[in-house]
Amino acid sequence: MLGRMMDYPLTLRHILERSNRLFPRKEVVSRVGDGEAPMRATYGEIYPRVHRLAGALRALGVAPGDRVASLAWNHQRHLELYLAVPCMGAVLHTVNFRLFPDQIVYIVNHAEDKVLFVDPSVLPVLEPVADRLTTVEHIVIMGERPSGADRLFGWPTHEYEELLAAAPTEYPFPNLAEDTAAAVCYTSGTTGNPKGVLYSHRALTLHSLVEAMSDVLALSERDVVMPVVPMFHANSWGLPYTSTMVGATQVLPGPAPTPEALVRLIESERVTLAAGVPTVWIGILAVLQEGGGDISSLTRIMCGGSAAPRSLIETYERQFGVPIWHAWGMTEMSPLGTVAHLKSQLQDLPEEERFRYRATQGLPSALVDIKAIDDQGDDVPWDGQTLGELVVRGPWVTAGYYQEPATSECFTPDGWFRTGDVVTIDPEGYLQLADRTKDLVKSGGEWISSVDLENALMAHPKVAEAAVIAVSHPKWDERPLACVVRRREAGDVSKDELIEFLTPNFARWALPDDVVFLEEIPKTSVGKFDKKILRDRFRDYVSPAG
Ligand code: AMP
Repeated sequence: MLGRMMDYPLTLRHILERSNRLFPRKEVVSRVGDGEAPMRATYGEIYPRVHRLAGALRALGVAPGDRVASLAWNHQRHLELYLAVPCMGAVLHTVNFRLFPDQIVYIVNHAEDKVLFVDPSVLPVLEPVADRLTTVEHIVIMGERPSGADRLFGWPTHEYEELLAAAPTEYPFPNLAEDTAAAVCYTSGTTGNPKGVLYSHRALTLHSLVEAMSDVLALSERDVVMPVVPMFHANSWGLPYTSTMVGATQVLPGPAPTPEALVRLIESERVTLAAGVPTVWIGILAVLQEGGGDISSLTRIMCGGSAAPRSLIETYERQFGVPIWHAWGMTEMSPLGTVAHLKSQLQDLPEEERFRYRATQGLPSALVDIKAIDDQGDDVPWDGQTLGELVVRGPWVTAGYYQEPATSECFTPDGWFRTGDVVTIDPEGYLQLADRTKDLVKSGGEWISSVDLENALMAHPKVAEAAVIAVSHPKWDERPLACVVRRREAGDVSKDELIEFLTPNFARWALPDDVVFLEEIPKTSVGKFDKKILRDRFRDYVSPAG
């Protein structure tokens, strides 16, 4: 028997309409640059602009299904694209403009982007690759056109505000099916070409609903949300859509925000939730500890994208009273997977244990199924000990990359997505990530988790950042090498001191053979430690232990 409920498609149009109807006076605040007043607009003011933007795109020849690309920082106009492009039935491709030039060429051509929206400050990235982009027909500058030129790199060139001013105030948004494509994001893969993840309206709508839940990010109309995570990185972790849906105030940090600029924004806009990768929070911590700054408006910090060191979680909580909520996800999952909240039955554990739980990747959110499998594809037990590859499924998990076959490398025979993350899951359901499959160190047949060593090293008061990589070894195959950045103000620290610091918590064979001190750890385009560069740099490294 079928249920008798309305067939109400889950589309982003609902989110757009709701923000205007219910929260027209709530603001979206965009940082423009240091020393300049931020740009402010209400949802009520943004709504007609979204209509105009859709009309302008139509006039440029964009039809349902066409791809429209953005090369932009986090700001109001980018949010308008997030709403207008999918609601008119087209697909927003948020280009990570920090990729290598060849990768930018590859993804724009692969997605067959028709119109490019570009921030003036990102034009220098576009210039050297423009003549290799084969499908682009128009370029729209999200600011002023350089020297008023009406053609740039051979394309007709428009100014965003001029286009909007010339467009009608109302656009007849179509009634879309919920499985219509809304956006595409390419993964910053470390091997091979980037791969496109094609999100549907349904996936992003369900993702927004669940992201707002109390046991996920607890987002409400009363929040002031600042996504530091770029809008080109997995939809800024879904925050623009979720915040618009609930009517939260949004604070968008604009071009190249420094840790100082972020602290000032938190202070002046009284941000309640800010989200970013650990390196962002490490940078902000240095500012807070050196010069001070007031982050007391924050009720929690969302931190993920790579493992949040436990020491970071403890420091923010103890020194500033702000809990870090550690989350795990992937571009392929829109990106939300798990968040580390303490279950009520675990609240009475000793503090030490509570922090241990909170430093895990956490519990899967509603509508996300997780399990870990061994090399044969069999489930491993949820005992908090047995390592396995994490596989996932759910309504916002990719069913196959854009225009790529769904291979057995990516999916299990029964259709779960293979994350490539090596994890344990404990009896309570808490996920703990040991490594990416490619980052694990295999020494004399034993696996060593680089993440565990990094977390332990970053707990040392004189260590700012630590990345551990595998270096080859004639006898043991691979050995761990620790690359460490000293904390500027804390004074010197030696290799022996660090190894001694690790010794109580690691088996002897799991300790790094050596520690090299670097000025900084190279970062990927989305701010994670770039171990590929480190591996290349230390390819010929010979371990002193022989
Ligand atoms: P991306 O799609 O670029 O966001 O990368 C996803 C990958 O980042 C995951 O497969 C993990 O390897 C890693 N990652 C994301 N969140 C975390 C986390 N909280 N702890 C450890 N690794 C993470």
